[in-house]
Amino acid sequence: MSNSDTNNILQLPNPAHIQADSMLARRFGRETVNYFGGSPLNRLSFLRTDHAFLSAAVKHPSARFVLLKDLSPLIKGPNSLYHAEYKDVQKLVPPTIFDKSEEDMLKEFDSRITKPELIFLGVDESAAASVQTGEELLQWTIYKGRPYFALDVSEKGTDEQKAEAKSVVEELAARGITPFTTRQHLLQPPTDGAIYAQARAYMDWNSRNKFCGTCGHRTLSINAGTKRACPPTDQALAAEGKSPEKGPCPTRTTISNLSFPRTDPTIIVATLSADGKRLLLGRSKRFPPNWYSTLAGFIEPGESVEDAVRREVWEEAGVTLSRVVIHSTQPWPYPANLMIGAIAQVSDPAHEVINLEHDPELEDAKWFSIAEVEEALKNGAGMLGEPPSKEYVEGNLRLPPVTAIANQLIQAAINQEYVGDKLAKM
Ligand SMILES: [Zn+2]
Repeated sequence: MSNSDTNNILQLPNPAHIQADSMLARRFGRETVNYFGGSPLNRLSFLRTDHAFLSAAVKHPSARFVLLKDLSPLIKGPNSLYHAEYKDVQKLVPPTIFDKSEEDMLKEFDSRITKPELIFLGVDESAAASVQTGEELLQWTIYKGRPYFALDVSEKGTDEQKAEAKSVVEELAARGITPFTTRQHLLQPPTDGAIYAQARAYMDWNSRNKFCGTCGHRTLSINAGTKRACPPTDQALAAEGKSPEKGPCPTRTTISNLSFPRTDPTIIVATLSADGKRLLLGRSKRFPPNWYSTLAGFIEPGESVEDAVRREVWEEAGVTLSRVVIHSTQPWPYPANLMIGAIAQVSDPAHEVINLEHDPELEDAKWFSIAEVEEALKNGAGMLGEPPSKEYVEGNLRLPPVTAIANQLIQAAINQEYVGDKLAKM
């Protein structure tokens, strides 16, 4: 598929405020919702401890399951996430799975017992608009819609569990549903992209936190896969003739976020020159020839977003920034990032001198003219390494696709309506 083909089918989510007029919308314009954001699911986070709700939701005929095999989503076509039904996954999800309260699960914890990871993602309340005739949606108190879960179908756990996961995957493969192992997940419709991002981030976190980060014992998945607890007792110890009491662990007695999923904030920035006529872009060593993007880096502890933007641009390119404005954000589930997108500008041409000697992270950084950037957005944007469109002229700049926040920041930075010099016109 050529880059112009993929750019045509790439779509962004709609802003949640799309129908609403407000003072803020008039002042700041339409919200940019980046790909992987704008989920259709109401997470109903306060119901994650309600085992009666979870038990009803998981077996409900309208429930759907996003399946991940070694973190790759199962799809039924190149761009189509498979929404499995309960009958597809029954071997891995017994109907009794949420029958016990969390209190009982913690009391009866036995570290010898493994289970496939099952995560409650939320309820799609918009499903009412597309529901098939005769299909009932889940109604729970005032909430109505299609419940969504993520399920791990990797071959893990006991030999029996591995065989069950294998047979679920094989049965689906016979129907043309297979794991999507490339990184090109940005091609799915935006609603599927957002559901997948949530599923992948939680699944990855669960798989990395099987053991308590404080005392080293096995943890138990609670809150429907969104928290891991270090239970006070373990029946595996009792089976060895020992006391089931595990001894103290600070995660049980103090307020601690050790067992909650993490999100790592990262800055990403499109930088304008002092005269607003050029854009600073950089390339890493792993980029194919002609590819450049906006600069990015992790926010460090005790650092504001704006300070992190200034530090990264100075460390990687030697350029000193003036004003920094936050533009939009993008969840990035590889594995747990939140990209905080900014637009920044240099105030003095003397601060534009590029110096790659501080931190040798970038292979190159360069100022590109607005015309070069406009041409690249039109004919050179695409997935990293993808062949260009027919209109692309060899040697010209290549940029990330519209589903990457880098592309949205570049578009905004060269948009006169967005960065227009209002004070100068007064
Ligand atoms: Zn512990």
